[in-house]
Amino acid sequence: MSEVQRSFPSHAAMDQFPVADGELVVGGMALTRLAARVGQTPFYAYDRSLLTRRVGELRAVLPSVLKLHYAMKANPMPALVCHMAGLVDGIDVASAGELKVALDAGANPRDISFAGPGKQGAELRQAVAAGILINVESFREVAELAAISAQTGNKARIAVRVNPDFELKSSGMKMGGGAKQFGVDAEQVPALLTEIGRAGLSFEGFHLFAGSQNLKPEAIVEAQSKSFDLALRLAREAPSPVRFLNLGGGFGIPYFPGEKHLDLAPIGAGLATISERAAKELPQAELVIELGRYLVGEAGIYVSRIVDRKISRGHCFLVTDGGLHHHLSASGNFGQVIRKNYPVAIGNRMAPSEREMVSVVGPLCTPLDLLADRMELAVAEAGDLVVIFQSGAYGASASPQAFLGHPACLETMV
Ligand SMILES: *Cc1c(COP(=O)(O)O)cnc(C)c1O
Repeated sequence: MSEVQRSFPSHAAMDQFPVADGELVVGGMALTRLAARVGQTPFYAYDRSLLTRRVGELRAVLPSVLKLHYAMKANPMPALVCHMAGLVDGIDVASAGELKVALDAGANPRDISFAGPGKQGAELRQAVAAGILINVESFREVAELAAISAQTGNKARIAVRVNPDFELKSSGMKMGGGAKQFGVDAEQVPALLTEIGRAGLSFEGFHLFAGSQNLKPEAIVEAQSKSFDLALRLAREAPSPVRFLNLGGGFGIPYFPGEKHLDLAPIGAGLATISERAAKELPQAELVIELGRYLVGEAGIYVSRIVDRKISRGHCFLVTDGGLHHHLSASGNFGQVIRKNYPVAIGNRMAPSEREMVSVVGPLCTPLDLLADRMELAVAEAGDLVVIFQSGAYGASASPQAFLGHPACLETMV
């Protein structure tokens, strides 16, 4: 069917993975062979060369002074974090558990930062001992860090996470602006900075993160430029010069029909303008953006095997051994308002002679366990491999694996 004839929008081409002899090729290996190597389905596979390529593509358009951090909550698999630690300039963690993985992966503590509401005393003590940067999100955290620094003689390194007075427009998930549990409201920051100065803590700068999964470059550019302006205003109240400024990220990837790959050029241009201004107005500041999904999302697939093929009142259901317990996002239950299909294919039938309209479901006893709803796929049977693309971020670790007691999925790097 040509683009003109299509009356409905299609998924962006998932051409990051080649096809050979009718099979998807992942990390240089045909999918059925990879499944044999893994030894079980379901599994997630992450392609190292795609991770490396993505970081290279970003570096090519971003100003060279800008530091690129990996927000590892998108995918905390240790081998993947290890690979990323060798490519990016820093790792952002959101718990003491993630901090351990980042340190084990060899990330330099100088370049690890820790954000998240509700950091507990024990986590703060670990963070101070590790010597990482702590993005404080409340007055309580500052008081606790002052006490820890006094007790241990190790001065806490602090940046203030600011809840901005604006929102990231068109974002899949808003995490700043209005009343939020994240960060400290911009208008309360001057008082917090006084507190930090009084406690003699090491103030390093600001962290602003407005939202996630954004496919509109102009919205991202606007949020980053407003973030920079806000940081400039707040810097006047700071106890020492700003040495670190994290402008967030929120770069999205195409999941659903009609969505396109993010155009990086305007974002690169916007960040170039910001870094020129920063060189004059905040000359000691290291500029950082932090990305999770954009770095890893497109490099991963989720693979399950068809267990059964059933026809119910004329509609075909492919029942697989994988489902929402491993991949909550693809089922549409991870923050989505309206359920839409991820890009899906029968990975061992990439050059089919026939296609049909089917639904792909998992083994759980709930109608929510839906991986593809009325999609046109290659005609498939039990034993074939269903691939869900765009699965490298918010997959295994963001899913309720214990729900219904099926085995956990495996994750592999290829
Ligand atoms: C979740 C999160 C990120 C990563 O968001 P992505 O949309 O995956 O890029 C970055 N920074 C903070 C503070 C976060 O909470």
